[in-house]
Amino acid sequence: MNFKDLSLEEIILKIKSWETTNKEVFDYFQTRIEKYDDTIQSYNYINTDWLKSDNDSILAWAPIAVKDIFCEKWIPTTCSSNMLKDFVPPYDATVIKNLNEAWMSSLGKVNMDEFAMWSTTESSATKKTFNPWGTNRIPWGSSGGSAACVAAWLAPAALGTDTGWSIRQPASVCGVVGFKPSYWRNSRFWAMAMASSLDCPWTLTKTVKDSAILYEVMNGHDEKENTSLPGKDIIDSKIWSSKDLKWMKIGVPKEYFEEGLDDGVRQVINKAIEKMKDLWAEVKEISLPMTKYAIATYYIVMPAELSTNLSRYDGIRYGHVSDKAYEWIESALINSRSEGFWDEAKRRIMLWSYVLSAGYYDAYYKKATQVRTLIMEDFDKAFSEVDAIISPVSPSVAWKIWEKIDDPVKMYLSDAYTIPASLAWLPGISVPAWFAESEDAEKEKLPVWIQILTANLQEEKLFEIAHVYEQATGFWKINPKGFED
Ligand code: GLN
Repeated sequence: MNFKDLSLEEIILKIKSWETTNKEVFDYFQTRIEKYDDTIQSYNYINTDWLKSDNDSILAWAPIAVKDIFCEKWIPTTCSSNMLKDFVPPYDATVIKNLNEAWMSSLGKVNMDEFAMWSTTESSATKKTFNPWGTNRIPWGSSGGSAACVAAWLAPAALGTDTGWSIRQPASVCGVVGFKPSYWRNSRFWAMAMASSLDCPWTLTKTVKDSAILYEVMNGHDEKENTSLPGKDIIDSKIWSSKDLKWMKIGVPKEYFEEGLDDGVRQVINKAIEKMKDLWAEVKEISLPMTKYAIATYYIVMPAELSTNLSRYDGIRYGHVSDKAYEWIESALINSRSEGFWDEAKRRIMLWSYVLSAGYYDAYYKKATQVRTLIMEDFDKAFSEVDAIISPVSPSVAWKIWEKIDDPVKMYLSDAYTIPASLAWLPGISVPAWFAESEDAEKEKLPVWIQILTANLQEEKLFEIAHVYEQATGFWKINPKGFED
């Protein structure tokens, strides 16, 4: 049976109605990985170990790819870093535990930027991943392996993490749905920490409904995660029959359409706005005046927290141990950390340890957290007027490989549309908007997706708007060429 072109939901239904078996589905995706992963290089580790079968379970042993940042018991978990290249965790992350309890079958570990920093998957110490829509292009990152493998149907869904953009952005240029909930729905337990006040483990799927299926399994209180809310959020199934956006007020922030947005992307977003109006949404311009401070704020808060989180990788508590001879314990640490981390990790550790140091903490980190509060207040005000906000996800289509590798500032600036929502802990999703023409003769299209945001804890409304829009466009059925059976 051919499972390509089927959503996760459809695959689960086929297993449950005995039209197929979960083993057949698992083997099908393994065969596709063998056939096509040479081209896109998304998997760091392929898990050939299919375990048992129980088709009454929620996920019915549906196979899912896992970003190499989530600890899975006895499965190598490297964060795509030399620092952890031999690490095999003896424990599961809570999200893995929740998915395993619903009977997820892990297809393996997929590539990412080292420790989830950077934005293109080019910082991976393991391999380079290519975008299925143009294999001379990046899949963005850091969840680039997750986005590329779902786009090329090498998994029906994948787990990723989003700290500033790392699910929404790669999903958008690889043409899949990228979802992150409110920060408070998370358990980050044993997902390797990048920036603890921002990290959101979540999903990349073919459809909005698939995101909601996984959301229901993954969200809920974790006693090991003291920022996770009590209880579990269940989505009302009525939303899936909504056909239009009547009564929905959608805000378009004018600050997101200023300098820096490519014209091609601007045109696509304008088409998406028109589509929303056709679906009877009331679309109005809003203002988020603190947007201009978001990148500066994020690039103080995030690397400062990152430098603290990465301090545990010293070759003693965790991580790579250098073979070099040493006289003092300090030189042993320096040797192991210098060999284990790539340039960007070193850059962030050095610069941002400084912003936390005595005398500078108040001037930088504390100030940034105060500005962060103002950014949150901007959104609170906006959500008193509108139900949702739409915006671009990325200022451009996917870059060519190595195009911007030497330009970290350009890289940081491209996070402009996703970072404000991360700082404000909001739920967000990137969904199909249209396709831009590529200048490459052999490929015709490059995906351009929109981001939809709702207020904190309003995931149900987010899914409803995204689903209505997705069904009206039908773009999720368009696939990259070259991965047919
Ligand atoms: N590009 C951002 C960074 O480098 C976001 C990464 C992320 O969301 N993990 O920090």
